[in-house]
Amino acid sequence: PFDLALVRARVRTHVCLKQRTDLLEQLAHLDGLTGIANRRHFDTVLLNEWRRATRQGQPLTLGLIDLDWFKNYNDHYGHQAGDECLRRVARLLTERIGRTGDLVARYGGEEFVFIAPSTDAEHAHRLAQAVCQAVQALALPHEFSPWGCVTLSIGVATCIPQRGETPDMLIQTADKRLYQAKAQGRNRVVSDVTDDRTHHPGSPA
Ligand code: GH3
Ligand code: MG
Ligand code: MG
Repeated sequence: PFDLALVRARVRTHVCLKQRTDLLEQLAHLDGLTGIANRRHFDTVLLNEWRRATRQGQPLTLGLIDLDWFKNYNDHYGHQAGDECLRRVARLLTERIGRTGDLVARYGGEEFVFIAPSTDAEHAHRLAQAVCQAVQALALPHEFSPWGCVTLSIGVATCIPQRGETPDMLIQTADKRLYQAKAQGRNRVVSDVTDDRTHHPGSPA
């Protein structure tokens, strides 16, 4: 015989399990400290966006972000303050790089990464520049930075992916430019645009 109570109970159990697996699935994509996407999720999204950009012949931008003088920050203000700073910066990044399809993730340690589909070099450069300025405008005190506040450096790479290439080259180019941004004094962007004309956003106060 048809037992309505039993069916109800089963449906309830099923829904609960489904909700729980969905939640676990979501949590597996998130960074525990900052609550934004983690490295694993970034890897998946990058591959998908790379394939899509290849099919559509669209540009794809990747930016590597690294906090400046962050070891000093931790040493001086303590690890907990360092964690809080990472959360604050993560929140600002998600506010600033929030166009549909964009992704911001914690890449590891004090490094973040963003992917901006259908974004050309000029637009990508302006976006990264705005992020740098917004973090400086937060004015989080950092006594051991020449700017006196928390800043970050960004290496940006834009390309139209071609068949046979992999996203590794985009990461490598962005990483190389991040290194250049550090070497040029930090709190700045190095991108396809600056590679053509050297750009100086200003000197420390
Ligand atoms: P640079 O301007 O060249 O990037 O210098 P830096 O000091 O930021 O670079 P370095 O790689 O030497 O130091 C990174 C520091 O970031 C080391 C560690 O103290 C800190 N850090 C990394 N992950 C975390 C984290 O999860 N929480 C906290 N509080 N600090 C972290
Ligand atoms: Mg680093
Ligand atoms: Mg750093």
